[in-house]
Amino acid sequence: MNRRHALGFLSSGSALAGAPHQLFAQQTRGLPALKITDVKVILTQPAGDNLVIVKLLTSEPGLYGIGCATHRERPLAVATAIEQYMKPFLLGKNPENIEDIWQSGYVASYFRSGVTLNNALSGVDGALWDILGKRAGMPVYKLLGGRVRAAVPLYTHATAATLQELEDKVRQFIAEGYRHVRVQLAVPGFATYGASSLTSDSVQKMRPRGIDPSPVFEPTAYVNNTIRMFEHLRARIGFDVDLLHDVHERVPPPQAVQLAKALEPYRLFFLEDPFAPEDVHWFGILRQQTSTPLAMGELFVNRNEWLPLVQNRWIDFIRIHISAIGGLSLARKVQCCCEMFGIRTAWHGPGNVSPIGHAVNMHLDLASFNFGIQEENRFSQTTREVFPGAPEISGGYLYANDKPGLGIDIDEKIAAKFPYKTPGGSRGNDRRLDGTIVRP
Ligand code: MG
Repeated sequence: MNRRHALGFLSSGSALAGAPHQLFAQQTRGLPALKITDVKVILTQPAGDNLVIVKLLTSEPGLYGIGCATHRERPLAVATAIEQYMKPFLLGKNPENIEDIWQSGYVASYFRSGVTLNNALSGVDGALWDILGKRAGMPVYKLLGGRVRAAVPLYTHATAATLQELEDKVRQFIAEGYRHVRVQLAVPGFATYGASSLTSDSVQKMRPRGIDPSPVFEPTAYVNNTIRMFEHLRARIGFDVDLLHDVHERVPPPQAVQLAKALEPYRLFFLEDPFAPEDVHWFGILRQQTSTPLAMGELFVNRNEWLPLVQNRWIDFIRIHISAIGGLSLARKVQCCCEMFGIRTAWHGPGNVSPIGHAVNMHLDLASFNFGIQEENRFSQTTREVFPGAPEISGGYLYANDKPGLGIDIDEKIAAKFPYKTPGGSRGNDRRLDGTIVRP
């Protein structure tokens, strides 16, 4: 068998291999077709999180784009995917063909929809939109259809060890202008998601013999504590502030149903992740039993995870982590799909989204009619020095700076001063009393 036949045997599409470089090499406004000339991965940790940033350089002097490819727990896997696989795939392509690069990049690995490759694709995708905006002289939100709001309303995070401390924090945020606050209260004596608390000696004594020490989480203690928290806050603060809460997939499904029903009198803005992605069909059961608004989705990586929830109207807010599904190009399609079903967006936005990822969230938020709320992350001064142009936060709103593209940059010299302290890392080791691992 000669080489040509051997290639044909390996891949029915091999006759086209390499051809995409030429497929869409058309000129733009009489200028030579733009080409991607280099792909860089920038790893930096200016605050707590291991960030992965992609920078695409082009054949036009000075024109480049940046995107967020951050998977905090496994950043080096993403970096390898970009350097070893995305870079040779991209070199020579026209960066204006965003949709073709996304679609062909998505299937280039044959196996797809994993969080590593999705993040790699997101970093590239964000950089392509950034380049397009810079070339057009427009902020990305204009390319998405233009503004439908002046700024982006944020929800902030209140966490505390005691009810009084939590109440004081919510009052403080209201005074600062916030109208949406996520509340998480430590469970006395137990480990808790979203609020730091130590497992007490008396709880450790409840454990069976022969167990290694670990933080202990118990669903019943958490559920009871959460109901008490909302009872207290609504009695003291009233109903004029929107309160949110994240279950973080930590309780068995029937207990999540009980919690959502018990919280109805306290009229939450939303209850987040009552189930794990593995249990999403429980939403069909929960929806029939409660009026508590439901949010879901930061762990989704595949469209078949969220499509049933949307088409059946089983949730009210989609909480996808945009880089984990492949970036802005797919996220805007999710947003459009959700609009058709009356579901609002609440893109995932804590510190494990880079400032560039936050800029992507913001551009989509500004242009989406079915925007619901945006999660806030307060960037440190150091982080702002690494990422000049990071979105401004003021009075409970996020503001765009209206520069062309994503409006944000990365100062590589300053970023290099903050190398990774660790190669990522694993989530916690919270366990049930009997030693069973608890979802993070
Ligand atoms: Mg969450």
